Amino acid sequence: GNPLDFDKWSFAGPEPGLITDKADLNYVKGQLAKLAPVTLKYNLSALSPEDKEVVGLLKQASDYMHTAFLRQVKENNEALLTELEKYRGTEDEPYYEYFKLMSGPWDRLDDNYLPFINDMEKPLGAGFYPAGMTKEEFNAWLEANPGDSGAFTDPFTVIRREGNGLKAVAYSEYFRDLLEPAADLLMQAAAKTTDPTLATYLSSRAADLLADNYRQSDIDWIDLAGDLEVVIGPYEVYEDELFNSKAAFESFICIVDKKESQKLESVESFRDDLAANFPLPDGYDLTPKGLSSPIKVVNQIYATGDAGTGFRTMAFNLPNDEWVRENKGSKNVILKNVMEAKFDGVLIPIADTLLAESERSRISGEAFFNFILMHEITHGLGPGNITVDGVETTVRKELEGHYSTIEECQADTLGIYNAQFLIDAENSPMPEGLEDALYATYLAGMFRSIRFGIGSAHGGGVAVQLNWHLETGAFIIDENGMFSVDYEKIRGSIRDLAEMLLTI
Ligand code: ZN
Repeated sequence: GNPLDFDKWSFAGPEPGLITDKADLNYVKGQLAKLAPVTLKYNLSALSPEDKEVVGLLKQASDYMHTAFLRQVKENNEALLTELEKYRGTEDEPYYEYFKLMSGPWDRLDDNYLPFINDMEKPLGAGFYPAGMTKEEFNAWLEANPGDSGAFTDPFTVIRREGNGLKAVAYSEYFRDLLEPAADLLMQAAAKTTDPTLATYLSSRAADLLADNYRQSDIDWIDLAGDLEVVIGPYEVYEDELFNSKAAFESFICIVDKKESQKLESVESFRDDLAANFPLPDGYDLTPKGLSSPIKVVNQIYATGDAGTGFRTMAFNLPNDEWVRENKGSKNVILKNVMEAKFDGVLIPIADTLLAESERSRISGEAFFNFILMHEITHGLGPGNITVDGVETTVRKELEGHYSTIEECQADTLGIYNAQFLIDAENSPMPEGLEDALYATYLAGMFRSIRFGIGSAHGGGVAVQLNWHLETGAFIIDENGMFSVDYEKIRGSIRDLAEMLLTI
């Protein structure tokens, strides 16, 4: 049940019924007060005059991604937002503000996604599936209609009711009013940019938005080589908590930090060594996920949709298409200005509150950066494609709704395992003195992600790690309730958890 008190909404708008009730205003104000506003800094001076105009066009296209995402979260979200806009400038404005940050009426700071507008539970499958559809109903339909399987499990369709049955509707059709103008803006930007690799990506992406097949533009995205780093389209599957299958629209517009990116090329050369060092029991074979995995350090200019909602991303590894990952590779992007904001505004206060005195002085922005970096690289290493009982499949498909949480847990656990491997390596690409800061920063970082709640893949993945390391004694709680690392035990504890996750 919802522990919040709901008041009847004193509704005066032209569409009675759209908003029927609301959570207590003080709750919403309190949630807003938990968020620290941050100004992200970036420098566009390296861009050609044409590319400065391209940024403007891409921002417009990104706004269409945002509207598409709103519709993915809840079918009538756009109408709700329009309704709430009327309350700007009134004492009820916080509802509008919070709705904008959450892209819908559910509180993403709460792991049960409490509704703060209209007392309705968030469906696990968000707006990707029809209201009230269960997993059993979906599976029963496919059993009776095996020919629908491809379209129903496709990441780029929504499922809707038709008579007594179900049907799949392609994104290009369902979101046509948004994707057509977005594709047009991408074509204009492609014609204008002075970066040929960006022109290639933007034109193939424009075509793919209208064709529901993103492989060519996913490949072109990995080859971006200019000053702008742009991601636009349907990508992450976290919003679909029913099957982790449907891709959510998002956009990142970023400018590349060339100096930082070059430093990381040396890490990339250790890729095969890292995969070979994975702790796997006999009988398990790791085929690395992709062929290459370039790393870009960027500063974020603009982000929308899934990327501009709730908890903000500071790093990602894309694309998610296993075929592209297998045949072309993937790319890691680290959003430096977002990461710095999180270290200063979140990690330091957490360490001051929860870490034992001895650990507090160890944490460093450099360790945080390298841990995030290794987390992303690990996403790109695998395992992705697997064979189960002689049938070729993917880890994503087999783990269904558990996939995202286990994947995030393994990216953290193997990420820190891999960081230690690189610290120990001959000609180590890691900065001096990193080991001292690494584990304390890893510990502090856990309390950062666990706040997202176990309903979030990252929060759930961290809950597993924290409990594991407390059970093995690698993390210790002292008599004052403060946390520290047992440096004798932590490496073994991480190794064992990594082996278990890889085996799952
Ligand atoms: Zn991750």
